[in-house]
Amino acid sequence: MHFQKTLQYAQHLDQQDPLKDYRNKFHFPKINSKEVIYFTGNSLGLQPKNAKKYVDEIMTDWAELAVEGHFQAEKPWWDYHERFSQKLAPIVGAKPTEVGVMNTLTVNLHLLMVSFYRPTKQRYRIIMEEKAFPSDQYMIASQVRFHGLDPEEVIVEVKKREGEHHFRTEDILSKINEVGEECALVLMGGVNYYSGQVLDMETITKAGKGVGAFVGWDLAHAAGNVELKLHEWEVDFASWCSYKYMNSGPGNVSGFFVHDQYHGQKDIPRFEGWWGHNKERRFLMEPDFQPEPDSNAWQISNAPVIAQAPHLASLEYFEEVGMPALINKRDKIVAYLEFILQEVAKEVGGDFEIITPKERGTQLSVFLHGQGKELFHYLMKNGVITDWREPNVIRLAPAPFYCSFEDMWRFGMVLKEYFIEN
Ligand SMILES: *Cc1c(COP(=O)(O)O)cnc(C)c1O
Repeated sequence: MHFQKTLQYAQHLDQQDPLKDYRNKFHFPKINSKEVIYFTGNSLGLQPKNAKKYVDEIMTDWAELAVEGHFQAEKPWWDYHERFSQKLAPIVGAKPTEVGVMNTLTVNLHLLMVSFYRPTKQRYRIIMEEKAFPSDQYMIASQVRFHGLDPEEVIVEVKKREGEHHFRTEDILSKINEVGEECALVLMGGVNYYSGQVLDMETITKAGKGVGAFVGWDLAHAAGNVELKLHEWEVDFASWCSYKYMNSGPGNVSGFFVHDQYHGQKDIPRFEGWWGHNKERRFLMEPDFQPEPDSNAWQISNAPVIAQAPHLASLEYFEEVGMPALINKRDKIVAYLEFILQEVAKEVGGDFEIITPKERGTQLSVFLHGQGKELFHYLMKNGVITDWREPNVIRLAPAPFYCSFEDMWRFGMVLKEYFIEN
């Protein structure tokens, strides 16, 4: 692509954008009464305008039907959670029977580890990446201690090489092979939250399974962002949050995947509850647990439908657009953002180091050498919402659903202005 750094050119790209109408389907916060340039869809996606209607629907049903809403509501509550499977499946490359929504991400990873981390004397180690998202570190270490083991001895971290900002697949594979028969589980973030690196999930999954380990993925930054083929890659389990690229609202429900080779397996350890019980007999209140035949066996409690409603709303947009179209726009807008950054750096003599490797999704992480947090505050004051990580990395994620090429151009102007003023 030969990009140009002009407003007219950016607007031309917007006119050609097949997703251009979706910008108006989200609520943008305003700063100085102007809609912000929103780069933090990787942290909390914007609110889809149809979300309120979905929530209101449930509030109205609750008011008018009360307990009868479980069965008589237009979207009955007792199996509300099942409406997600069909919509989520193409987003993560799964069969509808393999996916669902419940709880929140860290909780789901804990629950899935009950099934997929079963340490023995010979096979007990867990491979993860260094500096994983803190919640994953706490979660894994506490699971290890729960089994009476010592995290220091069990957890093997794959490291980045000196002076490099991303992981090398070859290093991950050699770590897996080195741990070999002692490896019980490989559990990593599919897209690194800090650098934006997309790991080669297919190759790593194959290697982990090759040494006889289970392989799971934390897809918090991957779901709704990059192409996933969980079923085909034979991933054992995965989980993700829905409030980042999937725009479902703060702290909202998490998605999960369990490969269908484990469905119906009688001896698999699992924490169980009545929402995982055979749905035809759920309300007969029988003493023995009969698991649902698919990933729904991992469900535990009845679904918090008021919270789930905005996620169902957000998935409506995903269903209309589809991942391939989102990925197309993503690649173009991220490339344009990269171009703008390079142009601004040239014009102002700034030293911006993009630490995201070419294996990337929506996020560019940029080292702003010599800059401090004043830059972050300046951007915010001028209507650009970014994410700042110490010492001086900004993470920029122009979510393809609602960010425009003009936003990228405007961001470039604000950034340049900062350097001229300072
Ligand atoms: C955002 C994120 C989480 C958040 O976990 P919650 O349980 O939803 O609070 C976990 N892991 C990763 C990698 C994340 O990026």
